[in-house]
Amino acid sequence: KPEYAFIGRSNVGKSSLINRLVNQHGLAKTSQRPGKTQLINHFLINESWYIVDLPGYGYAKVSKSSREAWEKFIRNYLTKRESLQCVMVLIDSRHEPQQIDLDFCYWLGECGLPFAIVFTKADKQGAGKTDQNVAKFRKSLSAWFEEIPPVFVTSAEKGEGREELLGFIEEVNKDFVLPKL
Ligand code: GDP
Repeated sequence: KPEYAFIGRSNVGKSSLINRLVNQHGLAKTSQRPGKTQLINHFLINESWYIVDLPGYGYAKVSKSSREAWEKFIRNYLTKRESLQCVMVLIDSRHEPQQIDLDFCYWLGECGLPFAIVFTKADKQGAGKTDQNVAKFRKSLSAWFEEIPPVFVTSAEKGEGREELLGFIEEVNKDFVLPKL
């Protein structure tokens, strides 16, 4: 069954967004310990597709060796998975482009993996600020990519962007069934 991977810096709002997307509170949990438990959670949605919850990156206090272990682990998963349709890279919309996120996008590009950018926590600041950060991120990406991947602006709090994101997933996977509201 088709898989859609969700990944981002720790605390980016990944669990909240996953739960909001499928309207199942408590489905995804923030329980990943930095560098320690490298767990991949698969959530089967409507018996037709998977949300793949990947461990976050960018923990402040992580040794070089655990960071490398994480990279190896993620690389293994992402490059070997035939049913993987798209990697959703979550970015906190409150911040200006962060090198670690850009690096991850470049790496996905190099691997030829399809990905989309999903900005989170859009309710936390004014729309103007969000737009600014989105524009800056796009600009940074355009230095490397001829084609900018799909971009979504979301809020797990307000539900903003949910329909757009589900619509995109539906488009990528025609057999996909929308979660019931
Ligand atoms: P994860 O570590 O990436 O899974 O992040 P979580 O989903 O646990 O969220 C981290 C923190 O950000 C929590 O305190 C959430 O309540 C908060 N948060 C997540 N998404 C949103 C959002 O869309 N709006 C607001 N205001 N807060 C959010």
